[in-house]
Amino acid sequence: MKNLQRHTPVDIWSAPYGFTYKEMVEVIGEREAKILYSSLYKHSPKKEHLNMSLKTVYKDGDTEKYVYELLDGMYIETVFIKRRGGGTVCVSTQVGCSVGCIFCESGRNGFVRNLTTAEIVQQVILLLRKVNRIIFMGMGEPLFNYDNFIKAIHILRDRNGMNFPTDGITVSTVGPVKQLKKLREEHLKIQLTISLHATTQVVRNRIIPNMHLSKISDVVDGALSYAKRHNRKVVFAYLILPGINDRPSDIRQIANWFRGKNVMLNLLEYNPTSNTQIKKPAKQEMAVFKQQLERAGIEVTMRSSHGRNINAACGQLASKYNETNE
Ligand code: SF4
Repeated sequence: MKNLQRHTPVDIWSAPYGFTYKEMVEVIGEREAKILYSSLYKHSPKKEHLNMSLKTVYKDGDTEKYVYELLDGMYIETVFIKRRGGGTVCVSTQVGCSVGCIFCESGRNGFVRNLTTAEIVQQVILLLRKVNRIIFMGMGEPLFNYDNFIKAIHILRDRNGMNFPTDGITVSTVGPVKQLKKLREEHLKIQLTISLHATTQVVRNRIIPNMHLSKISDVVDGALSYAKRHNRKVVFAYLILPGINDRPSDIRQIANWFRGKNVMLNLLEYNPTSNTQIKKPAKQEMAVFKQQLERAGIEVTMRSSHGRNINAACGQLASKYNETNE
C-alpha cells in the first residue's frame, strides 16, 4: 500500500475506470494493477472507485433508461435493451452535443462538455447487467470526444478486465472527416454506423446543421474506405423525412454510392422530440422507399425503435432529469 501511495497519482484513485491496464502497471506495478483491475471489472463496483451515481431508472418493456449524476451535477442517460442472454447498452459520450441534428433532443441546448473516459466506462459497469453489445449512440458525437472514446474501448476490451469482444462494439457518428480517417487507422475492428440522412450537401446541412464543414461525399468515401480496410460492413443510418430526402434523385444517388459495396442502409423513423415541425412518414411511405432502394440493388433494413414511452429511443435522450429538477 505504501508503494501504491508513493507511485499513484491522485487521479488513479479518484477515477480508476479511466486507466488502461498498461497505465496502471506503469504507475502501481503489475501485482497491484491486477488486483485493482480485477476488483473494478470482475466484482461489483465499489463506491470509492466511482465518480458518478445512478439517479433513477425508467422502464418500458424490454428497454431501460438509466439516468446518472456526475460529480459536477450534470446528468447523462444510458439505455439498456434486453435481448436473449444479455442486452445492448447505448452509451453517451458527451453532455449535450454540438452537432444539432434537427431530429435530436440531445443537442437542443448545445454542447456542455466531453465525458471523461471513466464516465464512459462506468455507464457499462454500473448497469450490473450482462452486456453483449455496446453501441456508442447515446448523447453526444463520439468522434468529437475522440481520445476519451477510443481509450474507453481499449479499457472495455482489455483481457485483464471485461475482455469485451471488439466486434460487439459499434460507433454511430455523423462522420467528421478528419476523425473518420483517424478511426480507419486504429487497430480496432469496431462496427461503424454513419448517420447520413441525405444525399446532397444542402439537405444534409438542413438536417445536421453543424456538420457543413464535412463534405457529404468525403463522409461517404471515408466510411467506404473504413469498410474496405477493416473488411466490415458499414451501416448508413437514414432518417426518412417525407418530401425532403426520399425523392427519386435520392434513390439514384444512394444507388450510385452503395450498389455492390459492403454497405447496409438502415431506414429510421422519426421518434417524437420537442421539434414539432418534423413530419413522421407513414408506414406505407417507408415501405415504398425501402422497396425502391432494394430494386436499385441496395441492402436495406428498417429498424424499430425501442423505449419511445420513456424517451429512450434514438434522438430522444436529453438531460431531462436536470431540466425538471432545477
Ligand atoms: S443525433 Fe447524435 S450527433 Fe446529432 S445532435 Fe443528437 S447526439 Fe448529436
